[in-house]
Amino acid sequence: MDFLGELRRTHTCGQLRGSDEGSRALLMGWVHRRHDLGGIIFIHLRDREGITQVVFHAGMDAQVHAKAESLRSEYVIAVAGSVARRSPETVNPKVATGEIELVAEKLWIFNESRTPPFPMEEEVDVSEEARLKYRYVDLRRPHMQRNIILRSRVSFAARELLTSMGFLEIETPFMGRSTPEGARDYLIPSRVQRGCFYALPQSPQLFKQLLMVSGFEKYFQIVRCFRDEDLRADRQPEFTQIDLEMSFPQQERILEVIEPLVQRIAAVAGYEVPAPFPRLTYEEAMRSYGIDKPDMRIPPFHAVEDLFEGSGLSGEGLPLVAIHIPKTGLLTRRERDELKAFGAERGLRVYDDVKRLDRDFPAPMQAVRQRCGAGEEDLLLLAGWPSAPKGHRPAHTVLQACGQLRLFAAQKYNDRHKLLDSRDFRFLWVLDFPMFEWSDEEQRWGAAHHPFTSVHDEDLEKLVTDPATCRAKSYDLVLNGVELGSGSIRIHRRDVQSKVFSALGFSEEEACRRFGFFLEALEYGAPPHGGIALGLDRLVMILAGENSIRDVIPFPKTARGTDLMCDSPSEVPERQLRELGIVFKRPAAAP
Ligand code: ASP
Repeated sequence: MDFLGELRRTHTCGQLRGSDEGSRALLMGWVHRRHDLGGIIFIHLRDREGITQVVFHAGMDAQVHAKAESLRSEYVIAVAGSVARRSPETVNPKVATGEIELVAEKLWIFNESRTPPFPMEEEVDVSEEARLKYRYVDLRRPHMQRNIILRSRVSFAARELLTSMGFLEIETPFMGRSTPEGARDYLIPSRVQRGCFYALPQSPQLFKQLLMVSGFEKYFQIVRCFRDEDLRADRQPEFTQIDLEMSFPQQERILEVIEPLVQRIAAVAGYEVPAPFPRLTYEEAMRSYGIDKPDMRIPPFHAVEDLFEGSGLSGEGLPLVAIHIPKTGLLTRRERDELKAFGAERGLRVYDDVKRLDRDFPAPMQAVRQRCGAGEEDLLLLAGWPSAPKGHRPAHTVLQACGQLRLFAAQKYNDRHKLLDSRDFRFLWVLDFPMFEWSDEEQRWGAAHHPFTSVHDEDLEKLVTDPATCRAKSYDLVLNGVELGSGSIRIHRRDVQSKVFSALGFSEEEACRRFGFFLEALEYGAPPHGGIALGLDRLVMILAGENSIRDVIPFPKTARGTDLMCDSPSEVPERQLRELGIVFKRPAAAP
């Protein structure tokens, strides 16, 4: 069949250039757009590599021309013809194939298409609901194709680099035992062992540690993780991590692996990222940004309570913070009230009347301006906490609220200072997190990272007596205010692990019941080890310039955890439930 003969000369729609003039080509793809100018028909033919203009001239084979007239959006076709240079006035310099067109001689229609639920153009404003319901059509849109292709290239680059560094890609089970990563587990009921459940892994944490006990030394996996938590723009019930673990590393060694990995991944997206990345301890991050994932594109705030002693602007022994956002210009009364209200909702007292502060505290205010480097055009505020906030780390509560105010103001006036440029990548390491976090809900200390994290050697003795001040050997990779990954040096001795469990309020019995197999493994020659996991979805989202991870995941779920395309989660037949021994108590109908 002549079609098969043609097939050997297949090009992609994005490939043809001026230098192909005169050659024969066969293109296959989707009809992106069609212009019928009476005798002459133009088709924009699209595949994942781009778009080529195809022209069906009036004088051509009448049958082929008639077939071309029947083409509509999203029909799937093949066209054979010869490559011709466009006349100078029709050259389109905006597209790579803009110098040429394919003069059609033959046309095959593989399939027709119903009118697509939304146009294929990049700029069209389509509701997310429609996009997710017809995801297979949405994914055809050029920017979604670019995102998914970028994602594939990023995964490949990660595999290539880690493999070249001696890491082994090893799979770990999806059907496992619940591990404490801080979220709720998704459970799978066992049919064979009624009443028992597997848990989908929140991460392969324990398995990767066990692989170190098994002597594999360097492990990685691009792996799906499952967490049942409330969803936001950068969260999905299932998400992907570049997960790795090494034996015998110091923290420094892990950072040395991740920096070139991130540089390589950024290069795939066309960006050069300088390394080494700056570092802050958790304490420094809190004192300068009021958050453990600072966005370094905006300047830090400054603690200035030393300049205002006895002023009463902030509670005794609490921070007073000067927030400085460059180039906002003079704010209106209403704008200042808005910032004040935002601070007040979080417990802060915001001093926005700088003229008044200058009058009441002339020398300290001059020192504040110097400390912040604030100019005439900049926004300057002071924020303090009138009495004393509750909690185990009151100063942090104040700093956190100031951090939120800083971000709020920076985002609000980005159109003026334009510092939040999505192509300005500011990577950062945050080190030495606290070991424990207080949970108001449970009224006890919980692990700030996870319970397998090592404590600083100097803090080992304080694990049970003074958990609030224990620091962990943990590190986060942060990019532009987003936590891209966390990791830690792990505990590799059973006695230390038991101590941490007891600091977390687990009885010996409970620790053994939940993690007995793991504690036992630590008694069979567990080497020192540590690792990290990077969120692949978030990383690709930022590199692709998107605001939601849903735009870089082929088949994501909505904020309610629903897949609108295949309508899951869904009810299942009664028989399946019976086999699993599951009976639902339906809520009683309203009387
Ligand atoms: N398993 C951890 C997490 O998912 C990462 C790590 O400690 O390696 O956050």
